[in-house]
Amino acid sequence: MAPDEFRRRGHEAVEWVARYLETVEERPVRAQVAPGEIRSLLAPTPPEHPESFDDIFADLDRAILPGITHWQSPNFFAYFQANGSGPAILGELVAAGLGIQGMLWSTSPAATELETLTGDWLVDLLGLPDRFRSTGAGGSVIQDGASGATLAALLAARERVRGREILSDLVAYTSTEAHSSVLKGVRTAGLSDDQLRLVPTDTDHAMDPAALADMVAEDLQAGRRPFFLTATVGSTSSHAIDPVAAIAAVIDGTDVWLHVDGAHAGSAAVCPEFRFVNDGLDRADSYCFDPHKWLFTNMECDVLFVADRAPLIDAMSVTPEYLRNPASESGAVIDYRDWHLPLGRRFRSLKLWFVLRHYGAEGLAATVRSHVAMTQDLAAWIDADLRFERAAVTPLNLVCFRHVGGDDVNQRLLDALNDSGKLFLSHTRLDGLFTLRMSVGQTMIQQRHVDAAWALIGEVADEIVAATPGA
Ligand code: PLP
Repeated sequence: MAPDEFRRRGHEAVEWVARYLETVEERPVRAQVAPGEIRSLLAPTPPEHPESFDDIFADLDRAILPGITHWQSPNFFAYFQANGSGPAILGELVAAGLGIQGMLWSTSPAATELETLTGDWLVDLLGLPDRFRSTGAGGSVIQDGASGATLAALLAARERVRGREILSDLVAYTSTEAHSSVLKGVRTAGLSDDQLRLVPTDTDHAMDPAALADMVAEDLQAGRRPFFLTATVGSTSSHAIDPVAAIAAVIDGTDVWLHVDGAHAGSAAVCPEFRFVNDGLDRADSYCFDPHKWLFTNMECDVLFVADRAPLIDAMSVTPEYLRNPASESGAVIDYRDWHLPLGRRFRSLKLWFVLRHYGAEGLAATVRSHVAMTQDLAAWIDADLRFERAAVTPLNLVCFRHVGGDDVNQRLLDALNDSGKLFLSHTRLDGLFTLRMSVGQTMIQQRHVDAAWALIGEVADEIVAATPGA
């Protein structure tokens, strides 16, 4: 593509994205297509001859958009958000333009140094413990997601206790409400499922430290080797917050690696009043959160902080001749290829840096604060409405609730709402009951979207109940 054509098409592409974001809330939020439908709209074989960008863009509208679930719609309340924002999109664009591969400091020093800087900025912005700064023994690295970050922490923990020797006596801990990525990490690290102990939770769905103490004592008694624990701050199902300080006290004096997964809720710490999400982090060996969830930075962007980078690097570093270079050998630089599984890496810190500079601490805090305020109002409306009940405490911006009519009514309510295309909610099961989850955190959300969503939920619920004899 010649530079002039690139310029012209580039302007068109940015215009296309701008128009998409301006009008996204008019689209059905969840894709309303059947399996295979999108593929059937596309050419079955690759083009023999070059095609024009006009045709490619026409197909984007005709055949791709119908199969898009609009995560950037302010009516998207499902799962946790995967937020984008103007500055993040532009950061992605520039990173793609630069097209660097930042595996080593020497393969693009700016990529490494900006990543280290943005990690240290986040320590300031979120009020994290100093031990996570790169200027001491610790530091941070951008990973693709919280799952990869948890796996990296687990491998570092394994390295610290055992290297890669016999693994059969190792045991890890997390709560029954932890994200599935913890079990996936355990499996990937070569341990069996029963080497992960699932600690029961209390009535708020948070890990019970007394039950943890019993499990650790039993394992030690049996000659097993506790080595890793993941506590969750803002669990996926209900946003439960494990009592990290009390958990740290249980494993005090052992060499169990304490990893804290704040994938979604961690961003709340941009607001000083929500820094309860950081409680106990001064005792953690590692901590991760996803700016790609609630800090307006496009996928993929998780930041993993470690208090001591040495075991992580020991676990990940394998150096063939072709990667040797004077800067690495001098010991004066960071090579982020040694901080995770992949060798090659994109310039991910650029989009995060664009976001942090565009919003500033004030802008980030104001946006997150408005999401929490809208959620707390919604929680109060649910509490005041006899048709519904709240299914969990609501510390931040996720409301779990259900209709009092039972599982079947709730399942049908969820299906009808999502089929309507007007909004998108997801579900979970809490205390054995089907539960609706509503995450209020989309970059562009405003009060009117929450008002309309709540009105629709009530209307559709009434219709379902009216059509259900005996409900
Ligand atoms: N941990 C928690 C608490 C999560 O909620 C999620 C995803 O929602 C993850 C981990 C996995 O995140 P990722 O998709 O960034 O791997």
